Amino acid sequence: MVVSVVVIGAGVVGLSTAVNIQELVPDVSVTIVADRFYESTASYGTGALFIPSFAQGMPHNNLKLLKRWVKDSWKFYYTLASSGESVNNGAMFISGYDLMDKLIPEDPLYKDVVLNCEEMSNTEKHTLGFHDYKYGFKVTTIALQMSKYLLWLQNRFEKNGGIIIHQHVKSFHELTGQYNIIVNCSGHGSSTLASDSKTIPVGGHLVKMKAPWIKHFILTTRNAYIIPGEDKVNLGVYNKSNSTDLTACSQHTRDIIEQCEKLCPYIKGAKFDHNWIGIRPFRETLRLEIETIPSGDRHVPVIHNYGHGYQGIGLSWGTAIHTAQLLHQYISNNKSKL
Ligand SMILES: Cc1cc2nc3c(=O)[nH]c(=O)nc-3n(C[C@H](O)[C@H](O)[C@H](O)COP(=O)(O)OP(=O)(O)OC[C@H]3O[C@@H](n4cnc5c(N)ncnc54)[C@H](O)[C@@H]3O)c2cc1C
Repeated sequence: MVVSVVVIGAGVVGLSTAVNIQELVPDVSVTIVADRFYESTASYGTGALFIPSFAQGMPHNNLKLLKRWVKDSWKFYYTLASSGESVNNGAMFISGYDLMDKLIPEDPLYKDVVLNCEEMSNTEKHTLGFHDYKYGFKVTTIALQMSKYLLWLQNRFEKNGGIIIHQHVKSFHELTGQYNIIVNCSGHGSSTLASDSKTIPVGGHLVKMKAPWIKHFILTTRNAYIIPGEDKVNLGVYNKSNSTDLTACSQHTRDIIEQCEKLCPYIKGAKFDHNWIGIRPFRETLRLEIETIPSGDRHVPVIHNYGHGYQGIGLSWGTAIHTAQLLHQYISNNKSKL
């Protein structure tokens, strides 16, 4: 019997989850249903740095599990970045600095995972103008060019035989008659779709600049950061909690540029390209679990995988593997009920 699975969501979490289900679970057919794709998702315009850290907001309540997701994501991105295919999949190695005012226990979480992570000496911080940060790390990690990576994931999904449907889902019950299993990767859409008041939309405003001479990223715990992409540099960030507003305020644009010029004076002379705002699906703890919902005389499983907040790139592949494993286990244990 082929089990039909529908994944709600076509952001980085939905696409990664759909691909992992196809590749890790035998005898399934997978459909993605979403009302926004590619550049209209939160996943598209981010600096997309693999830098999972409590200082950068980490949605979890289980450290062991969190570390597993982080490691699984890294392993995959490392394979992508270290192959000739990286031109198409968008993964690239990148070095830079992560500056912190205080150190949270276990942080930085990426330190034993990424290619290089070394604490900076006071002399190094002074030389680079970072002396008012108490801690600094020199890091070599991976950034994903999301315009390429999302397309690459979607192509992989379609090559595996996946079907994509453009549709707004008002209720899981719309899908229970057509599919055996629902997988919910709807990001901040889950606040209404899953009636989850713990999921909060947090808008993030970035300014995209042309500054090809900037090659290193600089992250701080003070909301100022610089992440070079393939052809533009991302300057961040203005965050707005409980907001789905996608209009950019010109004062915020000026503030972001000013704070980044202070952080890295040689950004001066960069040319403004455009503003980008994405809505993060913030949740204090990421939701990855199965619930069943009644549908006529049966119960349909809904596997939730959402709430990646500030860390969707760091966690998407790892949580996608975990979701596929849960689904596989569910099918093995409940074959007769499906
Ligand atoms: C400014 C900014 C910078 C960031 N930088 C980084 C970074 O450097 N590193 C990092 O790890 N993370 C970063 N993030 C976080 C990361 O972008 C998000 O965690 C990630 O994109 C969330 O992905 P998602 O697939 O859950 O959500 P989304 O990309 O929003 O996708 C949600 C999908 O669900 C669909 N959907 C929702 N509701 C419904 C419905 N009712 N019916 C049908 N479809 C529905 C939507 O159409 C969409 O396809 C950043 C975010 C922002 C905003």
